[in-house]
Amino acid sequence: MRVITSIKEMHAYSVSMKIRSKTIAFVPTMGFLHEGHLSLVEAARERADLVVVSIFVNPTQFGPKEDLSKYPRDIANDKKQLKNFDVDILFLPSAADLYPDEYKSYVEVEELSKRLCGQARPQHFRGVATIVTKLFNIVLPDYAIFGEKDYQQLIIIKRLVKDLNLPVHIVGLPIVREFDGLAMSSRNKYLTPKEREHATVLYKALQLAKKEIENGEKNCHKILLRVRSLVGSVPSMHLDYASIVDPITLVQIPKINGKVLIALAAHLGKARLIDNVLAAPK
Ligand code: AMP
Repeated sequence: MRVITSIKEMHAYSVSMKIRSKTIAFVPTMGFLHEGHLSLVEAARERADLVVVSIFVNPTQFGPKEDLSKYPRDIANDKKQLKNFDVDILFLPSAADLYPDEYKSYVEVEELSKRLCGQARPQHFRGVATIVTKLFNIVLPDYAIFGEKDYQQLIIIKRLVKDLNLPVHIVGLPIVREFDGLAMSSRNKYLTPKEREHATVLYKALQLAKKEIENGEKNCHKILLRVRSLVGSVPSMHLDYASIVDPITLVQIPKINGKVLIALAAHLGKARLIDNVLAAPK
């Protein structure tokens, strides 16, 4: 695994590989890698001749009061984990190179960026769309692999790639969970042992909603009341939102009439946790 920190060197590598007709699969991450990230790396390996993984904690997707400076980082351990996965390039760009002082350009995906997490994090998806576009232009991937854990992010990136005619195939992969259902996340590190136990209520609430939908409940309001009540049974958990939405447009749905996305976000201690499941009537 070769480590590249320079944007110029990364781009030159990709151009040289394209000239040799090599395909590139790319996995962008913010590091502090866990099995969820590694499942994407594995899938990347199966899809292309070369695998590029990036680690960059992107400042433009954090709000002013969010956890940018505290976001967990452990590059040494990330490198160790990636060594088991036949990764060709680990790209570690710096914020100073990606966003020099005179930086002025941002990519905005309208409407989709304002829904769900966009309510509480109004600039978040602008930052995500910007960094993903920049990384695609540097790495020149044929495939880019993302997790459904960040379902809204995945939908926004798919939209962005279509709208801006970016020559990359976006691949979305299922959420990897802990033994008790909690979605793996770098931010789970913030949880105390007690909070970690309580965190499973999110997955339980999503499963409850999914079951109700499968059993024929059509009224989203009723389903969400039950979800909120279950999450509310953990006093330290503060639900940001629980929504049932169209899985493509992310628009809220009042009545179930096909496949839907059930998505939620909640604050627990120092962590903001997100999770989602797809559901449809049986
Ligand atoms: P992050 O480092 O949190 O920005 O995540 C990098 C990529 O890994 C994104 O595409 C995430 O959706 C994906 N990812 C994070 N957690 C999981 C998980 N538990 N299962 C599958 N993919 C994940």
